[in-house]
Amino acid sequence: MIFRQLFDATSSTFTYVLGDPRSGEAVVVDPVLEHRQRDSALLHELGLTPRATLETHVHADHITGAWWLRHEFGCEIALAAASEAHGADRLLRHGDRIAFGDRHLAVRATPGHTRGCLTYVLDDASLALTGDCLLIRGTGRTDFQHGDAHAMFRSIRDQILSLPGECLLYPAHDYRGLSVSTVAEERRFNPRMAESIGEEDFVGQMRNLNLPHPRLLEIAVPANLRVGRPDTDAPPGTKRPDWAPLRFTLAGFWEIEPVVLADLTRAVQIVDVRSAEEFTGPLGHIRSAVLIPLDQLPARIGELSKDLPVVAVCRSGARSAQATVLLEKAGLPRVANLVGGMLRWTSEQQPV
Ligand code: FE
Repeated sequence: MIFRQLFDATSSTFTYVLGDPRSGEAVVVDPVLEHRQRDSALLHELGLTPRATLETHVHADHITGAWWLRHEFGCEIALAAASEAHGADRLLRHGDRIAFGDRHLAVRATPGHTRGCLTYVLDDASLALTGDCLLIRGTGRTDFQHGDAHAMFRSIRDQILSLPGECLLYPAHDYRGLSVSTVAEERRFNPRMAESIGEEDFVGQMRNLNLPHPRLLEIAVPANLRVGRPDTDAPPGTKRPDWAPLRFTLAGFWEIEPVVLADLTRAVQIVDVRSAEEFTGPLGHIRSAVLIPLDQLPARIGELSKDLPVVAVCRSGARSAQATVLLEKAGLPRVANLVGGMLRWTSEQQPV
């Protein structure tokens, strides 16, 4: 199975991707809207197609990327029936299963932080995604969004700490740099929920946490109650360049395929960042390309027009990727890297 833990540093939220490599089917749990480009690049690069986005609950600290991912991939939006959100494709209840390829997640209702909190347990109980119910050496708060400390105590005891001791626990947040725990560890060391702690002890602690009000509550909760759909009629913002069909890489820049560049009818500036010897060497160069070797690029950026998109080219696509980042930093608004460089270009029989 493919398993990835992604992090949003602003809200300390974890997003999880679980994928079945055989079928390429995946689920994305708790996507964060701001990271839609990153997450979609990762899915593309891992060869995964999301079947569903799952929420562990209606979040108060970030806006979900669920609506955007459905717009991009056509996947279902699923979250708890008890969440009272609108616009989901599937409303989940305790005991439901969410399949991706040959694998599935089992749904457990774990209310307490909110009424609609769910924990997702992998088919073989090797891992569980606990949302804001059980955190590493902590728990979610219970003082807003219909939180209920009694309910949380029972959720954690009966639905999470009852899993096998070696089951890995992945929460929706961590604020101290921790990323994973196990059921056995939390049974022993969780200061709020260790085995010796009773329900009244727990409730007493939770009543006296005096936590600050979440900064984004008034924005995030209404947006998440409509599964991240923007409140205007405009399609969800994508930051996607409009001058050519490009692909965003997880490395952080836009790429263009040789065939797309060859078929492009609009004007672009092609910058070849190899050495002069390579430019006139056996691989040849693209007819309209301008030669600016990478080491001279910082000093010669002024030679490029900001009005035309720029495609950076080198032998293999590595130096030009660096050039792409450099050009973007210099303020050029539309820049892409030619995937695979002149090696791919010539192997695809494009003209030189
Ligand atoms: Fe939460």
